Amino acid sequence: MDRSLRVAVVGAGPAGIYAADILTKAAPAATVDIIDRLPTPYGLIRYGVAPDHPRIKEIITALHHVLEDPRIRFIGNVDYGVDVKPEELTPFYDAVVVATGADKDRELDIPGIDLPGSHGAADFVSWYDGHPDVPREWPLTASKVAVIGAGNVAVDVARILAKTADELLETEIPDNVHRGLLASPVTDVHLFSRRGPGQVKFTPMELRELDESPNVEVVVHPEGMEFDEGSLAAIRARRSLKMCVDTLQNWCARDPRDRPRRLHLHFLQAPVAVLGSSRTEGLRTETQELTGDGSVRGTGVFTDWEVQAVYRAIGYLSRPIADLPFDPVTGTIPHEAGRVLDLDGERVPGLYATGWIKRGPVGLIGHTKKDANETITSLLADVDTLPAAIHRDPADVLTYLDRRGVGYTTWDGWKRLDDHEVGLGRPHGRKRVKVVPRQDMIDISRGI
Ligand code: NAP
Repeated sequence: MDRSLRVAVVGAGPAGIYAADILTKAAPAATVDIIDRLPTPYGLIRYGVAPDHPRIKEIITALHHVLEDPRIRFIGNVDYGVDVKPEELTPFYDAVVVATGADKDRELDIPGIDLPGSHGAADFVSWYDGHPDVPREWPLTASKVAVIGAGNVAVDVARILAKTADELLETEIPDNVHRGLLASPVTDVHLFSRRGPGQVKFTPMELRELDESPNVEVVVHPEGMEFDEGSLAAIRARRSLKMCVDTLQNWCARDPRDRPRRLHLHFLQAPVAVLGSSRTEGLRTETQELTGDGSVRGTGVFTDWEVQAVYRAIGYLSRPIADLPFDPVTGTIPHEAGRVLDLDGERVPGLYATGWIKRGPVGLIGHTKKDANETITSLLADVDTLPAAIHRDPADVLTYLDRRGVGYTTWDGWKRLDDHEVGLGRPHGRKRVKVVPRQDMIDISRGI
């Protein structure tokens, strides 16, 4: 095959954009279409990173630079597997790299989990980040709330729930999110970790940030501040874990301060049921004990916490894509060094995966670069055996989408919407205010 590779990357989040960047640097004649089901690029950075994390959102600047490359074309508002089947796009590309990430909530199989007032963190994150596909209104009526999990998403959700709406006014949150948070009567947010402080998954900076709101007192409950041999070994081995534990111990030892809202951190409390008959009225947890190696077992001691809302932040899950292999247990696409394998373990020619759909929803944004490197190295090693595209003119796929009535958005369209959002923020001294309804996003992109 000649080196003017035509590649589609599905997913315009960091994983997909890093893959396109690495590919075009390694194969200068290659051209890449980055396809996304959303009308906008940037995936989880725009719709997963919390609005009060502007430093992480800054990664967009580097990704923007990549998308400015004329060899890379953004095609938004195209749901791969829904609007167009994978086999429909195959004739236009030599290879397809799936980078659709993970944006669903992992299930928690406990009684009462489906009661009104019991939510997945991913849905809440989508709401406060102004995702076009979730309802505009979020029921923030609880004064006491439980958050399950001890990862960075749990910390994000607990922090956004506990902070006052006006503290977020300097961010890009849409007006409906500000109004929703402003009406919230919350006084107490309880975060429950099923294991001990030596097993937390969150990172030191994100933990310390919980304590930065002048309106929120962080309370570490001493009952669960326990460590076994496994915990001590883990703390010795990982500096970031030691920093988290030091912070927790300092907070645990300090005198309480009088602040309007409290964020309680509980360790060794595993969720066993969401309580209530027609809506969430509480959370039952079972006290755990450490077994020596950092694992836990139940003690048979149960506590009922009076809360009117429960958020589970126990990890993300990828969505399967129609007609592509998917392992429902790991929630990933089976692969070998990024080469997608079918259910018999055979390679699917020309199909690759990268990012969270490949390795699962773990790791920080920068980690996806290493992943993309592996996948693109595999793709380039296969270049001579790839099933060559039949329609090689980049205009052909757009003609096809037009003919199929798929109203796609473009990079120029994103720049129009970007300018519009920045303009919305300007009179209020804000960097941007997001547009939320999908049709509005599309219309503004198209200059309608
Ligand atoms: P995570 O880091 O895997 O944390 C999941 C948490 O849920 C763990 O504490 C886990 O406890 C707990 N959990 C799992 N199953 C449970 C169950 N059945 N009952 C109770 N607890 C349960 O996942 P995440 O918080 O969704 O984050 C995903 C990735 O995104 C992470 O790499 C994270 O660092 C990253 N992220 C980063 C930022 C940031 O940099 N600011 C923000 C958000 C997310 P066990 O350890 O006991 O399993």
